Amino acid sequence: MEQTERIGKGLQELETWVLPAIEGAGDPEALEQIRVRVLGRKGQLTEILRGLSAFPPEMRREVGQQANALKAHIEAKLQERQQGLRVALHEGLAVRDAIDITLPGRPVRRGSLHPLTATLYEIVEIFQHLGFSVAEGPEVELDYYNFEALNIPKDHPARDMQDTFYVTDEVLLRTHTSPVQIRVMEAQTPPVRIVAPGRVYRRDADPTHSPMFHQVEGLLVDYGVSFADLKGTLQAFVDQFFGAGTRLRYRPSFFPFTEPSAEVDIACVMCKGTGCRVCKGSGFLEILGSGMVDPEVFRMVGYDPEITGFAFGMGVERIAMLRYGIDDIRLFFENDLRFLQQFPSL
Ligand SMILES: [Zn+2]
Repeated sequence: MEQTERIGKGLQELETWVLPAIEGAGDPEALEQIRVRVLGRKGQLTEILRGLSAFPPEMRREVGQQANALKAHIEAKLQERQQGLRVALHEGLAVRDAIDITLPGRPVRRGSLHPLTATLYEIVEIFQHLGFSVAEGPEVELDYYNFEALNIPKDHPARDMQDTFYVTDEVLLRTHTSPVQIRVMEAQTPPVRIVAPGRVYRRDADPTHSPMFHQVEGLLVDYGVSFADLKGTLQAFVDQFFGAGTRLRYRPSFFPFTEPSAEVDIACVMCKGTGCRVCKGSGFLEILGSGMVDPEVFRMVGYDPEITGFAFGMGVERIAMLRYGIDDIRLFFENDLRFLQQFPSL
C-alpha cells in the first residue's frame, strides 16, 4: 500500500509541473524538451510505468490506470500546444510577409548618360544635321597618321606640345582625332564631310588637363571651300549649342596641318562678354582650333592640288566644363554619383 501511495504522489507532482510547463512552452523546441523529460525513453512517467511491472497484478491495475490516464492527458496537451504554436508561427509569418497593395510602387532606378557622353552626342548630332557624317579610327595609332601625314615630321616642335604614350617608336596612343581625317581621305575621294569623335591621349595631368580626354574634329573637303564656309559652319554650331547669337572671335594661330589657322573663342557664357572670373576678365572663352587644310596634307593623301577644305577640333571636356561651370576636369572621371547625377539626361 505504501508503494502505491508513493507512486500516486509522484504522479500528482508530475501533473502539477508538467501541465503548466506545456502551456508555457514558447516554441516547438521547448515543447519537445518537456516531452523527452516526461515521456522519453528515460522520462519520469516512462520510468514510473516501467516500475509497475514489478508490482502484483491488483496493485498494478489501480496505479497503472492512473498513470496511463495521466500519460494520455499529457500527450493530448502536448499535441494541443504543438498545434497552437504552429498556428502562431504561421500568423507571424503572414504578418511579416504581407504585401500592402495600397503602397505606391518602388521606382525603378534608371541609369543615365555620362555628362561627357551626352555632350559628345549633342555636338555630333548638331553637325550631323549640318550634313556631316561620323567617322571613327583607332586609338592606338601609327606615328605616320598621328604626326607625319599631318605635316608634323619627327623634328617638328609641335610634337613637344603633344607628348604621348608610346607603344613602340612608331606606334602610339593618338594625341588627337586628326589621324581619322587622313584615314578617311586615303579611303575616299572628295567631297568629304565628316566629324570624328573619340578618346585621345596626352602626357598631361592637372585640374584642366587629363591624360585621356575626348575630341570632336570636323573636316570638310570640296572645290571652292573658303574661310567664310568655316565661319558659317562654326556659327551654326555655337548658335545651337550655346544659344542663338553667341558671338565668335577668331584669333590667328598656328597648326601644322592648317593654313591659315585660327583659335576660336566664344563670348563668355557666364558674363556674356563683360568680363568675369571664368573668362579671367577677357569676356571670351577659347573653345576650338580651326583653319583651312594645308595643301601639304592634301598632297600626302594624293588629292588634287586644287582641292580646298577646312578643319576644326574641340575638346569635349572643355566644352562641358564651360557649359556647366565645372572647374576641375578630374571630376568627370572619379565616378562620384553625387557629381554625375547633377546633369540632365538626354
Ligand atoms: Zn566671363
